[in-house]
Amino acid sequence: MNEFRLDPESLVFTLITKKTDECRACTTKDKAISSVEFLKGFVRIYEIKDDVQPSKYELVGDFFKSSNADGYEEILVDSEKHENNLMAYGVEEIEKLLNILVNRVNDLQPERENELEPYKLGENLVISRSSGGHGYFDLIITKIPKKEGKLCFGCESIKNSGNREVYKTENFVVYVPFAPKYGFELVIAPRQHLQFKLCDSSRLFDLAAIIKKIFNAFGKELNMAVSQNAQGHFKVTISNGKLDSYSMLGINRVENSPDILAKEIRDSKKL
Ligand SMILES: [Zn+2]
Ligand SMILES: [Zn+2]
Repeated sequence: MNEFRLDPESLVFTLITKKTDECRACTTKDKAISSVEFLKGFVRIYEIKDDVQPSKYELVGDFFKSSNADGYEEILVDSEKHENNLMAYGVEEIEKLLNILVNRVNDLQPERENELEPYKLGENLVISRSSGGHGYFDLIITKIPKKEGKLCFGCESIKNSGNREVYKTENFVVYVPFAPKYGFELVIAPRQHLQFKLCDSSRLFDLAAIIKKIFNAFGKELNMAVSQNAQGHFKVTISNGKLDSYSMLGINRVENSPDILAKEIRDSKKL
């Protein structure tokens, strides 16, 4: 059973999970839960139940708190082939894919419940796509709380992007973040405070054109992730680093259970 644990000092969650090296799109044995027409075929949607289960979110414990993994995850696969393909799509196709994502988020929007100050539950959404493998979107909605500040970090970042700004359109601004996590990282953010689920077709077309422009400028497909802060301002991160959905949510992921690791070390009698 996968498990979330809350670090009582930093209030950062760790997900204890199994190692997954193989391609999820190629190895999924479940039937698609939905299909949406795309190009001459379909975007097929598969529910993933490894890290998240549709159980009631509940932190157990007073100081050391944990819960069963919880939330929702699905992958949206737009190609049968195990290869990069976003770079090969035109702006219209990328806009169509983004539109499919917006429609899915509207279909899946979880109910807001269990307010837990100063956190909000149920609005943690990340959709990531890795280059260098099978082109698909990995969508995670988890109820793990995201810290909410007084100001919208998205709006403040745009106001203060200054000399880190690199490109601008009517709807979006592209900037290098103040404290990037990777050597190469760009943020595309709507200039108006906007939730991803409310992004209309003309904005999505603008966004698709920017993504395509960045890929073309650097001559390759890069990793990308759509995420949203607690106030509901979305952004698209483009990076050469792996934008794992959980790390985008600020959640650590470890493959070893701390208890099993400790037992292994004790049993090895090396200490
Ligand atoms: Zn694959
Ligand atoms: Zn904002």
